[in-house]
Amino acid sequence: MNLHQVSILFTAEEIARRVKSLAEEIAGEIEGDTVIVALLRGSFIFAADLVREMHYVDFHPQIDFMTLSSYGSNTESSGSVNIQRDITTDLEGKNVLIVDDILESGRTLSFAKHLLKDRGAKEVKVAVLLEKPGKKVVKVEADFVGFRVPDRFVVGYGLDCANFYRELPYIGILDLN
Ligand code: 5GP
Ligand code: MG
Repeated sequence: MNLHQVSILFTAEEIARRVKSLAEEIAGEIEGDTVIVALLRGSFIFAADLVREMHYVDFHPQIDFMTLSSYGSNTESSGSVNIQRDITTDLEGKNVLIVDDILESGRTLSFAKHLLKDRGAKEVKVAVLLEKPGKKVVKVEADFVGFRVPDRFVVGYGLDCANFYRELPYIGILDLN
């Protein structure tokens, strides 16, 4: 695999500080039994770091995973969302916090929010590591946002291009030239 250049947007240290403060924000705003539903695969590193920071602020969620896919090419997400792997946790009467990597068109998160609400969740909130402002085609808001990023294709810290670059400890813009 010939790796392309990645221009760093957020270093590992900057991400760690922001994830810690997000855990504090979330613990301050959500009360009661909470199930975290992390959307695979892009959020796996963010979710792993976030829940460990939650431990230090005395927030103790249940954790489950769901894989959603939207058909399309590597760098543009497309219209329809489907479930490739479902959660097994009962959501009835629980608070749900969806954790995702990046909010762009909003299709993925809108689908996930409605789905989990329909399953009996008391309240469904959303935490995303990244948000690309100005790209939404579906009305959906994230309650907690790590960083806002420019309208460029970003990779690292779980985010991929063709399933590569996920292991980068930092987040950066992929230079495809
Ligand atoms: P949405 O449904 O909001 O359009 O897209 C969300 C999904 O598209 C994300 O979960 C992510 O998988 C993918 N995505 C959108 N923008 C980027 C990007 O800049 N980099 C990467 N690696 N994935 C992205
Ligand atoms: Mg994703």
